[in-house]
Amino acid sequence: MLRLAKLEVLEPRSWEEAVHLLQQYPEARVLAGGTDLLPALKTLQVRSSTLVSLRHLLDGQICLVDKELRLDAGATLTNIASHPLVLAGAPALAQAASLVASPLIRNRATLGGNLCVEPRCRYINQSELFRQALGGCLKSHGDDCHVVPAATRCLAALSSDSVPVLIAYQATIHTIGPRGRRIIPAQEFHRADGVHPFRLEAAELIQQIRLPSPPAGCRVTYRKWRPRKSIDFPLVSVAVRLNTNAGHLDSGLVVVGVLGPKPRVISLDRLAGAPLNSDLPFLVAELAGSLKPLPNVPYEPGYRKTRLLLEMQRAVRDML
Ligand SMILES: Cc1cc2nc3c(=O)[nH]c(=O)nc-3n(C[C@H](O)[C@H](O)[C@H](O)COP(=O)(O)OP(=O)(O)OC[C@H]3O[C@@H](n4cnc5c(N)ncnc54)[C@H](O)[C@@H]3O)c2cc1C
Ligand code: SF4
Repeated sequence: MLRLAKLEVLEPRSWEEAVHLLQQYPEARVLAGGTDLLPALKTLQVRSSTLVSLRHLLDGQICLVDKELRLDAGATLTNIASHPLVLAGAPALAQAASLVASPLIRNRATLGGNLCVEPRCRYINQSELFRQALGGCLKSHGDDCHVVPAATRCLAALSSDSVPVLIAYQATIHTIGPRGRRIIPAQEFHRADGVHPFRLEAAELIQQIRLPSPPAGCRVTYRKWRPRKSIDFPLVSVAVRLNTNAGHLDSGLVVVGVLGPKPRVISLDRLAGAPLNSDLPFLVAELAGSLKPLPNVPYEPGYRKTRLLLEMQRAVRDML
């Protein structure tokens, strides 16, 4: 059994105090539900002896303000999956949340934590003992990547289920940090470097996620593939947004996860004017033909590519 090392847990009573503590303890990690962080601490994928808990700051609220859906960073995935405002305004987000892990994990897991899930790979998500046998990697005190040997940067895979959907809904991420408050579009939140995968500055915290009201004719859906129907992280994930008008496609996008650390966004503008008929799924999949899954997560990349195009077609077909 992997044991958790002794930890000091700090519990700030205001956001400003939390930012101050994170500046004071630069090695400290932020704790929300702990469902990603605590396993990572156990496997020593993440090393820290101090946690800054957000439990007195997150209220988990979900509300509608000026037609904008506002989710506190502490909103749990269980709540998101069944909340009437999410089901009415952003059903694909409810769908994605409902597909994460298991019911018990979703009860604790927060949306803020889901945005910041550590990118995953076949090497780093093993025990320290296993990793030592091969030596470190670019993300853990080494010079090589063990899953994509030619890589010069870490290509661990973005494995959050909410991220592709938040991008499809054009969500914004509202943060507070040493330089005050900031708004980051969800599409710009991730970087193409698995060692530093998020555009959060030191001591910066996510407070809220906001989704603008989608225009009439907008449809969004999410599909995830994994070998087991529960617990597993996605090995293929895709969100599709179609902006439609009078039986035709106006614009749209496809957001693909589990490639590298950053989601890939493909515009569907080239298909503007296409009728919403049974040809559309194939036209959309054609635009994604150049995507290349890597051997960073289980299952052969060629199989995952076939699976990805299939899930993409199914996503479009589900919305026709
Ligand atoms: C068995 C198992 C299966 C899983 N399956 C899936 C899956 O299928 N899909 C999936 O997406 N996830 C999965 N997860 C990962 C995890 O449960 C979820 O991603 C969850 O939403 C993480 O939220 P949390 O509140 O528990 O985050 P935590 O573990 O508390 O934090 C995760 C990361 O986010 C940072 N963080 C948290 N909140 C904030 C904030 N407000 N501001 C700044 N940084 C913050 C933390 O410092 C940490 O680095 C799984 C986990 C387990 C153990
Ligand atoms: S992708 Fe390569 S560098 Fe990144 S965690 Fe995995 S083995 Fe390490």
